[in-house]
Amino acid sequence: MTNPNDRSTPRAVRMAQPLAREVVEEIAKQYGVCIRPVPLRRQDILTGQTEVIDVPCGATLESKCPPCAKRNRQLRRAQCREGWHLDHEPVNLPDNADEYQRHLVELRADVQAWRDETEKAGGDTTDLDAAIVELNEEINAAGMRGNVLGRTSGKRSRSTKRRQDAPDLPKRQMTKTTLGRTFTGSDGKVYRPSMFVTLTLPSYGRVGEGAPLNPDAYDYGRAARDALHFSKLIDRFVQNLRRVAGYDVQYFASVEPQKRLAPHLHMAIRGTLPRAELRQIIAATYHQVWWPSTDTVRFEGDRLPVREDGAGYLDPATGEVLPTWEQALDALDADEDAEPLHVLRFGDQMDVKGVLAGTPDADQLIGYLSKYLTKSLGDALGTDDPRRKAHAERLLEALRFEPCAPTCPNWLRYGVQPKGAKAGMAPGRCKGKAHKPDHLGYAGRRVLVSRKWSNKTLTEHKQDRRTWVLEALGVEDEPVDPHRYLWRPVKPGDSDLAPIGVRLLRSVHERQRWRNHMNQLQALGDGQDLSATEGRAA
Ligand SMILES: [Zn+2]
Ligand SMILES: [Zn+2]
Repeated sequence: MTNPNDRSTPRAVRMAQPLAREVVEEIAKQYGVCIRPVPLRRQDILTGQTEVIDVPCGATLESKCPPCAKRNRQLRRAQCREGWHLDHEPVNLPDNADEYQRHLVELRADVQAWRDETEKAGGDTTDLDAAIVELNEEINAAGMRGNVLGRTSGKRSRSTKRRQDAPDLPKRQMTKTTLGRTFTGSDGKVYRPSMFVTLTLPSYGRVGEGAPLNPDAYDYGRAARDALHFSKLIDRFVQNLRRVAGYDVQYFASVEPQKRLAPHLHMAIRGTLPRAELRQIIAATYHQVWWPSTDTVRFEGDRLPVREDGAGYLDPATGEVLPTWEQALDALDADEDAEPLHVLRFGDQMDVKGVLAGTPDADQLIGYLSKYLTKSLGDALGTDDPRRKAHAERLLEALRFEPCAPTCPNWLRYGVQPKGAKAGMAPGRCKGKAHKPDHLGYAGRRVLVSRKWSNKTLTEHKQDRRTWVLEALGVEDEPVDPHRYLWRPVKPGDSDLAPIGVRLLRSVHERQRWRNHMNQLQALGDGQDLSATEGRAA
């Protein structure tokens, strides 16, 4: 494909470019090739050779590229299946920072340097800031076994502990196992039951076809706050579940948008509890948000706090320095009558299923857990249905001035300096994911996997697949020295960077070659399920 910006390209060819690009993308999709590859320059330290390599977008950033989305779903399904009915304790080996993680970390450092340069030159850093946020998440996701638990800040545990009372639930003696109980049938067969639970937030007003019947009566404020803090409620649920079950319960869960745009949760749980007990836990679980009050709007419109170096943000009229985040929390602790900013609970609608290992039911539910992963919460904003669109817009508006985190600039509206306050902050202009149309309040991870779910991280599952393919090809999978390569971002317009169409076609060609090879192997009677290797990147 020719470069559309090259003026030597005949006009007719240039005009045909947009169509051609679409065609190439279609072909790429058919071959399972990433359509939004991220180019990285890789330097081999031993030979000095540099090469521009396309990394599949799904491996680097949160992506809506269909082939990468499909690949991620397959990996997640494998991971889910691996742990649900585990019959032996997982051995947790310390994670080695593999090559991929290392290159992410290096990339992160480079993007930071690039961002700082841009800022110094007076350029716009919005995109680079967003890239840094996404890279941070990816580094966490690549390295750690996805974990939403155990992140509660230690410093404030004193006061929050006092108020975060444990609900009134039965408590069993803890046993040191992550496995569920087994049952032996009269025929001597051993059964290993597990559970599948769906947890939903409460009603905010009656809905029909994904939009409120009476928008004025719909509680958007509560819906916004529930979405913002939903992951905390999940944490509490797991804590309570473990306390009652008396063992180290493991789970694989996915957070999905409901039609009414509230997040809800599907959770595969290893082991089983009496249904009535589970219902009791769900009903008793709550989370209190101990943040400063937002009842009074102190600054809005043209009257906004001003920043003074060394002092922080001040009241523009009186010059009074606004309390810092820490001071505001101290005041909250000292106030015996203080109420939490918000209390979350699950709604009445819950669904609990018992599931046996290896049954069609289990397979179906595993598919269900990964089905909507690529759907963003805010997809309704793009619909043609005016009622649903208006509903999404109202929720977005409710989120606009709602503080999403201690660092959120919206705190200035309520007279508090955000944690780690910086210059240039203004209420209503938070860049946090939670306020964005794609997230509609829920900025947490979409897949939550407990630490001892299986023996493998997602990176290891990918590695498994790679090893299998290489073995099938008769190639030895040599361990790569992680320090051998240096990775650098490639800026758009770099002269080494071929046009996207050319790069896609190259990847398709690679994929074709690889497929032919696999087909030959299959013809030789290997008989393995080749579709399972579909995920390997070209
Ligand atoms: Zn992709
Ligand atoms: Zn925010």
